[in-house]
Amino acid sequence: MPLRFFNTYSRALEEFHPLDPTGREVKMYTCGPTVYSHAHIGNFRAYLFEDLLQRHLELREFKVHRVMNITDVDDKTILGSRSAGVPLAEFTAPFKQAFFEDLDTLRIERADSFPEATDPRQIAAMIEMIKTLMARDLVYQADDKSVYYRINKFPEYGHLAHFDLSELRSTGRVKSDEYDKEHVGDFALWKAWDEADGPVKWESPWGPGRPGWHIECSAMATQLLGEQLDIHCGGVDNIFPHHEAEIAQTEGCTGKKFVRYWMHCAHLMVDGQKMSKSLGNFYTLRDVLAKGYSGREVRYALMRVHYRAPLNFTWEGMEESREALRRIDDWLARLRAKAEEDNVQRPTPKAFASGASNIQRPTEEGSGFEDALDDDLNISGALGVLFETIRETNRALDLGMLDPNAASSWLQWWQRIDRVLAISGEETAALSAEISAIAEARVQARLAKDWRKSDELRDELAAKGWEARDTKDGQKITRRDGV
Ligand code: AMP
Ligand code: ZN
Repeated sequence: MPLRFFNTYSRALEEFHPLDPTGREVKMYTCGPTVYSHAHIGNFRAYLFEDLLQRHLELREFKVHRVMNITDVDDKTILGSRSAGVPLAEFTAPFKQAFFEDLDTLRIERADSFPEATDPRQIAAMIEMIKTLMARDLVYQADDKSVYYRINKFPEYGHLAHFDLSELRSTGRVKSDEYDKEHVGDFALWKAWDEADGPVKWESPWGPGRPGWHIECSAMATQLLGEQLDIHCGGVDNIFPHHEAEIAQTEGCTGKKFVRYWMHCAHLMVDGQKMSKSLGNFYTLRDVLAKGYSGREVRYALMRVHYRAPLNFTWEGMEESREALRRIDDWLARLRAKAEEDNVQRPTPKAFASGASNIQRPTEEGSGFEDALDDDLNISGALGVLFETIRETNRALDLGMLDPNAASSWLQWWQRIDRVLAISGEETAALSAEISAIAEARVQARLAKDWRKSDELRDELAAKGWEARDTKDGQKITRRDGV
C-alpha cells in the first residue's frame, strides 16, 4: 500500500511524495509551545501525533528534517512576566526547560532544531520578510503603527480553512493573534510597542515593537528549512488563522507553494470540550504523573486513537492504557523466556503447522502493522494487528507450539515496530517535585549569572543522585545511575 496522508489543504487522502528529487529527504515543520506555563496534555497529543508521523517516516526510511519553534514572546508571555515582576527571558526559561523534560518523559524524538522567537537572528528574518511584503504592497502600516496584512490582496486567503473570503471579506484589523472566521480581518505582522509591553521591544523600520505570532513561524520555517516544506503540522485550532496567515506571508514573499501536505490533529477533549488553558479544564503532564501514571502510559493513552478523531481524556482511559502496556510487557517476557530456551530441534506439531503456520514467523513485511500506519497513520488498525498477534502467539505458547526461533523472530518484529511506538522498556524516572524545584532554582541562578549558586545546586542534585548538564536546549537532568 502506498504511503498516504490526509491533506487539510485538499481535504483528501493523498499519496506522499516529498519534494526532494531523491524522494527520501522530508522537510517537516511543527508549531511548538508558547512558554508561558507548562504545556498541557492536549498540546502533547499534538506533539505525539507529530512524533508518530516522524517515527513512521523514519521506519519507512525517509530522512526527516524537523523544526519546532518555541514561542517565547507574545501577549501571554509578556503578561506573565509582568505579573511575576521578572524579565521576559527569566519568566519563560523554566517553562522551556520543563517542556524539554516533558518531551523526554513522553519519549518524543527531538526536532533538529527548536528556534526561539526572541533569537535576534529570527527577529531579523521576520523583519526582512515584512519588508519584502511591504515592497509588494501586501502589508501596510496602520495609524496605530502596527503592520497588517491586506488579506483582500491575497486571493488564496481562506483556502486552507475552506471558507469563502468573498462572503466574509475583511472586517477591519485584528491585532490579536487569535480570532474567529466570523470576524475575519487583516492580521498583524508587527505589533507596535505600547505600555503593556513594558521593556519588551525590538527596533524595526516601522518603529519599536514585536512580531506577531504568525510571522514567527513563517520566518523560522523558511530560515531553517527553506522556502518549501513537505509537511506542516499542528492541532486543528492552528488552521485558522495561524496557518492561513503563514501561507499568506510566506507565499506572498516567495511566490512559491509553501507546504505540500498540511496535517492537523483533532483535539484532546474533556467532557465534550477542547482541553485548553482558557477553559481551565486541563491537566499538565506533571498532574497526570502525580497520580501515579508513567510517561509511557501517558504516551500510549494519547497516541492510541487516530489523530484525526477527537479523543476524550478520562482516567478510565488511563487505566485501559496501563492494562494494554501490561499485556505487552507480559507477552514480551514470555517471548524472551521462550527465546532463551535451548533451541533444540523439535518437530512443529502438524495441526499447528498447517492451521496457523503464520504465527511461527512474522511475515516478510512485518506487516499489517506498518501497512496500517501507511494508511494515514491508522494507529488503531496497527494496534489491532499487534494485539491480535499477541493473542495468537500467546495461544501458541500455551499449547507449546512456538519454538525459540519463532519467539526470537517475534521479538525482532517487536523491536522494529517499537521504533514507532516507543513504549517498551523501563520507565525513565520522572522528576520529583523536590528535584524539579532544585533544578528550576539552578536555571534561575544561571540566568542571574550566579555561578557559585549554580554549582552548589549542581552538587545538591548530585548528592540526591541526579546529574545536571547544560546543553544547547537548556539544562538536562538525568539520573546518575543512568536510569
Ligand atoms: P499552543 O501552545 O496553544 O500554541 O498549542 C501548541 C500546540 O498544541 C498546537 O499545535 C495546538 O494546535 C495544539 N493543541 C492545543 N490544545 C490542544 C488539544 N486540546 N488537543 C490537541 N492539540 C492541542
Ligand atoms: Zn506556528
